[in-house]
Amino acid sequence: MTDNNHLSEQVLRRMERLGKIGHWRWDVQDNSLFWSEGVYQIHGIDSDGFTPNVDAALDAYIHDDRADVEECLTNAIENNEDFKFEKRIKRPDGEIRHVISQGECEFDDNNELLSVFGVIQDITPIKMQEELYELAALGSSSALWDWDVTHDRLHWAGRSAEIMGYASNKQLPQTTEDFYEGFLHPDDKEIVSEGLINHFTKLDEFWVRIRIKRNDGSYEWFSSRAQAQFDDYGKAIRVCGSMTSIQNLKEAQEKLEQSNSDLENFASIAAHELKRPLRTVASYLQLIGMSKEEMPASVKDHMEECIKAADEMSFMVDELLEYAQLQDAELNISAVNLDQITKAITRSAKDEVNASKAHIGFGDLPTIPCDETKIKTVITNLLHNAIKYRSDEKPEIHMSAAEHDEHWQYTIKDNGLGIPEGQGKTIFDMFKRLDNAKDRQGTGIGLAICRRIVDLHKGKIWVEPNDGQGSIFHFTISKRLSYGDNRDG
Ligand code: ADP
Repeated sequence: MTDNNHLSEQVLRRMERLGKIGHWRWDVQDNSLFWSEGVYQIHGIDSDGFTPNVDAALDAYIHDDRADVEECLTNAIENNEDFKFEKRIKRPDGEIRHVISQGECEFDDNNELLSVFGVIQDITPIKMQEELYELAALGSSSALWDWDVTHDRLHWAGRSAEIMGYASNKQLPQTTEDFYEGFLHPDDKEIVSEGLINHFTKLDEFWVRIRIKRNDGSYEWFSSRAQAQFDDYGKAIRVCGSMTSIQNLKEAQEKLEQSNSDLENFASIAAHELKRPLRTVASYLQLIGMSKEEMPASVKDHMEECIKAADEMSFMVDELLEYAQLQDAELNISAVNLDQITKAITRSAKDEVNASKAHIGFGDLPTIPCDETKIKTVITNLLHNAIKYRSDEKPEIHMSAAEHDEHWQYTIKDNGLGIPEGQGKTIFDMFKRLDNAKDRQGTGIGLAICRRIVDLHKGKIWVEPNDGQGSIFHFTISKRLSYGDNRDG
């Protein structure tokens, strides 16, 4: 062997090892088989002490694949054709490897078949990736798409067709034009285009909710997310994404919205209807009450209880109505001087303030854009509660507001009974009253009204314990509200 030959032998071995390939030659005349070192490695067999033969080579293929391999080779020999197949071999230790084999027949000058020459490549890692992807796609409840942006080709994987209401993935859109014109709801085209542009140019997350046409012509809601791959110049060359049905979610949401609005309408109608007979009861009670002095003491007591209950009910109906009307309310935004309105509210509550000997302090209270009437309702409720739920100590109340990046935050601090741990969230629910409210009048609607008003202002309302004793209520008002804004603005 010359040096050059030796060198090329070495290079060949290296190439085979690195590329996980091997070559073989089957001498048809004497039925002998040669395997290169690479073939031994792929088969997981030590070359020392093993002489390959055709039967052993065919036996290496797993049972399901063996017959195909044999047929392929026979066909190649009989028809003098090149061959190529992708099959699985089983190593002596039981490990399965995926291989691609290809080759050709070699003939002598008389066109007599001499041998078959082949190359085998171990493609197990690639195959496992593919299998993983396919299995994930099959196991996923989402349709998966792969868009070759350069050639505008869409590929759908796994159970995409089934998920999107079609018989086969071939029926799904194959180009973006197909997708836009034949599948996407016309009203959602802009959402998709904008989402893609923002993803490509600003790397914003692509996540849209869109309607897709099913085979039967109906539309179904999907949530679609995707990620692009970019070339060295920042141009998107490939986008892979998923499409998950959110039809059930949408339907549930619509039902919920409908039943909420039915409930609001019902509350509003019921409150309206209750007001009239309630007014009659209150008027008659007032008339009867005029001759209270002539009544026996026990009847007088019952009478007073009746008047109190009618008053309470009337108040509750008013609050219910106020709550219900906030549902479709629009905001009337203007520049509101929080200092002025807070002090005016405090003056209006002077009877309770004086009776409880409350001391009220004020911090910074800037002028901010909000709905004056509604924010007054919130502050009034919070102030009344701070006095109502006082402890045995003299009430110390402090009201202030501060500016933050995105919102203003109003705070009212008291040294009252406080809210037991874990109950801070529930008090904003309708009709929720805590044990501390047992001997104090109320309906449990006030804080629910506050929350709804704060929601309209795109803010949050919450309570935290005051160090030592009492509660601190906070609510925020978004700075995203502009003058003349309504709640959707
Ligand atoms: P109401 O005062 O009519 O009962 P609210 O909705 O205003 O209803 O308040 C709900 C409940 O939250 C009250 O019943 C009370 O238990 C509790 N609460 C509200 N404000 C305070 C406060 N400042 N301190 C302690 N508990 C409070």
